[in-house]
Amino acid sequence: MPTCDNCHNKWNWKQTIKKTTTLNPVMTCPYCGEKQYQTQKSKTKIGFLTSIVLLPLLLQIFFDMPGAFLLSLFPILTVIFILLYPFLIKLSSREEYINF
Ligand SMILES: [Zn+2]
Repeated sequence: MPTCDNCHNKWNWKQTIKKTTTLNPVMTCPYCGEKQYQTQKSKTKIGFLTSIVLLPLLLQIFFDMPGAFLLSLFPILTVIFILLYPFLIKLSSREEYINF
């Protein structure tokens, strides 16, 4: 679960979901009101998790799996993703940019 870089309070699952489901990359800490940003490393981890969730779609393309099987699998994977991703979020007080 993410911990505020400023006041070191741990955000709970519900707070994390609420803060991360907006399009705004700036997340304000519910405890100290300080602006928090998701670290680049944690973004990479979440990207990895997303690809795991999308994996059944790729399997469908390559192995021609029955659509009904995928349709039943997809909500399960989505739920797993929503449950897991707050654990991968790390916060920083400064906004990070990718350096190429
Ligand atoms: Zn805080």
